[in-house]
Amino acid sequence: MKDKIKALETQARRLEPGPNEREAWTRQVTAYTERFLQSLPTTPTYVADDGASMQLDPDIEETPAALDALIDELERAVDTPGINPASGGHLGYIPGGGLYPSALGDFLADVSNRYAGVAFASPGAVRLEKTLVDWIVRLVGYPVGAGGDLTSGGSIANLSALVTARDAQDIKAREIPQSTIYLTGQVHHCVDKALRMAGLDECPRRMVPMDGRYRMDPQVLERMIDTDNKAGLRPWLVVASAGTTDTGAIDPLSAISEICRRHKIWFHLDAAYGGFFRLCEEGRAVLGGMEEADSVVMDPHKGLFLPYGSGALLVRDVHQLARAHSYEANYMQDARAAAADYSPADLSAELSRPFRGLRLWLPIKLLGLGAFRAALAEKIWLARYFHQRLGAVAGFEVGPEPDLSVVTYRYRPTRGDVDEFNQRLLRAVLDDGKVFISSTRLDGAFTLRLAVLHFRTHLDTIDYLLDLLQSSARRLEAE
Ligand SMILES: *Cc1c(COP(=O)(O)O)cnc(C)c1O
Repeated sequence: MKDKIKALETQARRLEPGPNEREAWTRQVTAYTERFLQSLPTTPTYVADDGASMQLDPDIEETPAALDALIDELERAVDTPGINPASGGHLGYIPGGGLYPSALGDFLADVSNRYAGVAFASPGAVRLEKTLVDWIVRLVGYPVGAGGDLTSGGSIANLSALVTARDAQDIKAREIPQSTIYLTGQVHHCVDKALRMAGLDECPRRMVPMDGRYRMDPQVLERMIDTDNKAGLRPWLVVASAGTTDTGAIDPLSAISEICRRHKIWFHLDAAYGGFFRLCEEGRAVLGGMEEADSVVMDPHKGLFLPYGSGALLVRDVHQLARAHSYEANYMQDARAAAADYSPADLSAELSRPFRGLRLWLPIKLLGLGAFRAALAEKIWLARYFHQRLGAVAGFEVGPEPDLSVVTYRYRPTRGDVDEFNQRLLRAVLDDGKVFISSTRLDGAFTLRLAVLHFRTHLDTIDYLLDLLQSSARRLEAE
């Protein structure tokens, strides 16, 4: 038996490379990441998928492969087609980030593999994450007693928030068809998905009308609540947005919170895109009232420029979050007995999870918060600049002055179909490839969007897009 075990060990030891091999691999990987980063200014932001030349080798082999060959394959098949989210030319949807120190944080976390789900296993990792959550709690303006969890993203954070709201409001299955929810047509689609997953799909949904800037009308909200109350229904949840994905609009938070308090309704705020703008003065000026929500979602992989996989959920009364997510299990008894405070596993659907605090802690400590505040203010001013410049160009019409960093616009051609022209204009920008923009439909009209949120987006990028839009529109008009 020992011979058998030893023979297996010889093979299994391949999983434990020695220092020389580790160093060689690390050098190869960083040589590639350096090449990737240094060529970013000249790499297209968008490359159409051509299928054949970008296929991955489908075989999973028994034997080892050379790292060079794997990196080549990664570059060709993964890092080439589609949108390049590391590029400052990413001006579509809501751009992500990819701060380099976050990658180093992930590297450190993955090598030591500290267990961040339970304080008993890694008190230090749990304390580090708690420090970060407490910092976000203060940023939101929440009182002592608030808490939260670092999640994998905004969709999961919204799901956890809605489950928390459901339990806090004590919505039982049989009451669901009478329990009404209030939101606007601009709420992110992940809320719809989360309601379905949380078993709340049969709650009647009231679409609250919006003003000309796509913000919830609080007076109509209250009238709808009164009507539902009179009809014997039970209003229990309002979902508002601080920075809608489509137009960057911020709902009137204080007015909504007052109504919710009066009617004992849970006020959930999706600030996945906009929340971290509270770090700069320009953002604070428009984000008042966030602290009055019962729960708030914010995405560090948007507003703090982290790589994908970073969301945050904050709940005004952390016990409500725990109530919806805590657990008991015999095999966890040692860990439970030692617990003085909540661990992440008490506050989320996850047990084992990445130590994701390090990818946030390392960059904000290493680079300092001042750089983040400046970058966020810069994004707001870049959006204002684009709005002002494009608005002054004949033929272009721009949407409302941006609250944050999303601008909507379209070109009005002298003849032909407006929607069709703007679709061609979008295609012209994507064919150029240097920058990436996206589109939406507003009141049925095909509309182009600018979303500035990448830390590598600066004035030169916006000027490039302004020139490209004008020259492309002129060319299309002449065709
Ligand atoms: C991006 C976004 C989400 C979804 O978050 P993910 O992190 O992509 O899961 C939800 N709401 C808003 C307003 C968003 O911008």
